[in-house]
Amino acid sequence: MDAQAQQLSRRFSAEAGYPRPGSYRLLPLNFMAAAAGDTRRYIVSNICGDYAVVRRDTLEALVSGNLSSASPEYELLRRKHLIFDDATRSTLNLVAAKYRTRTRSVANFTGLFLFVVTLRCNHVCPYCQVSRVSEDREAFDMTEEMAEKALDFTFRTPSSGIKIEFQGGEPMLNFPLIQFIVQRAKAKNRAAGKDLQFVAATNLSVATDQMLKFCAEEEILLSTSLDGPADLHNANRPKRGNNSYELTIEGIRKARKAIGHHRVGALMTTTEKSLHRVRDIVDTYVAHDFHQIFLRPLSPYGDAIRTKAFDRYTAERWVEFYKEGLDYILDRNKRGYPMKEAYASILLTRILTNHGTGFVNLQSPAGIGIAGIVFNYDGDVYASDEGRMAAERGDKTFRLGNILSNSYEEIMLSDSLLEPLAASLLESAPMCHECAFLPYCGADPDYHHATQGDFLGHKAFSGFCAKNMEIFRHLIGKLEAGGEDADILRSWT
Ligand code: SF4
Repeated sequence: MDAQAQQLSRRFSAEAGYPRPGSYRLLPLNFMAAAAGDTRRYIVSNICGDYAVVRRDTLEALVSGNLSSASPEYELLRRKHLIFDDATRSTLNLVAAKYRTRTRSVANFTGLFLFVVTLRCNHVCPYCQVSRVSEDREAFDMTEEMAEKALDFTFRTPSSGIKIEFQGGEPMLNFPLIQFIVQRAKAKNRAAGKDLQFVAATNLSVATDQMLKFCAEEEILLSTSLDGPADLHNANRPKRGNNSYELTIEGIRKARKAIGHHRVGALMTTTEKSLHRVRDIVDTYVAHDFHQIFLRPLSPYGDAIRTKAFDRYTAERWVEFYKEGLDYILDRNKRGYPMKEAYASILLTRILTNHGTGFVNLQSPAGIGIAGIVFNYDGDVYASDEGRMAAERGDKTFRLGNILSNSYEEIMLSDSLLEPLAASLLESAPMCHECAFLPYCGADPDYHHATQGDFLGHKAFSGFCAKNMEIFRHLIGKLEAGGEDADILRSWT
């Protein structure tokens, strides 16, 4: 080396001390603007849901292979399993293991079995998604023969857990059949040894002390509907006598006393009338000592379509309602009242942990049939509750067969199930396959069939996509902002 070269080399460290652009490899990842229309920051996620939020210039350097290993983002992206290098080759195995864990629910197979024990109901809710019939029409009750066959079907599942959910109409109007199913299921389970749970979705207005005693003895959880303060609840859930709210509150009080405070849950549905009332709705839940609320939009099925209730607000308006509600719930937490929003809790669990949530509408392939399945009052088997709601309006696309005339194999291998399942994989769906929220999201063939006449749906025009995408962004934005909101949200997983 001549003198000039020696002089130059003294100014530089040895080559090994420098970042080596291109020495890392990308793991399978997607990215998306952190806020709609804002191209400064991006959410980058891998196939098992690890994510990081980075600036655009970092993203450009990352994907072009020019990210310096000396940059602070390099370590973040390596730690989040978005890249690996020679020192972290084992990341590949780790990501594969996490992906297997996240998709385990597919192998677990069906765990939720809905028994529509009757279509009769004593309410006339205009947005009802199941097109209930009046109380006295016993032709709309499931028979013991159907229930027995449905239980035989249920216990064919390889899943180690079985949840039987009683639905209606108002299921308590056919309480003898609930008793029959519980006793027969428990008898069958003595040999099967599954983790067996029961829940009844009821408006509680006809629940007698004897019914509640049975629920307590047999450990049946109760889930009811509470749409908000009295005027809103009564407007949403009309009933002769206009006392639906009073009956629900009295039912909740009696049910809690009989089966235990925390064994009674409540759900709300957002109608057009609810849109300006989210604080009142949350306050009603607080006033009645609920520590969880599920802010749910209307679904495009049943009477919600016939009465046009579904069309009265847009996905964007609902997201506004949801964000206001979420902020208010966070505020109630900060003021000392612990409370979760259930949908955020499900999404955060998918974003922050490796556990599946079992939530049927957020699975890929879709959860229809293979996560949850429905036995209707007439013995027909549906891939989902939404599918049976659509059938009540004449669309039997998701009817898989009849429990009296079809075998387990015929039902589970029917084209009516396999076709929407095959079409529902997000990993091969336009838009979804390159979406940063893919690991947290799911396919909803019922929704897209109902709104677009297609199992997959064009996601650019999908209310399901618009709602989820904005909520994912909102939650990740709050987590990234840190502070008390982020701590509370993390505690919900
Ligand atoms: S439905 Fe929308 S938010 Fe969900 S993965 Fe597909 S594109 Fe992303």
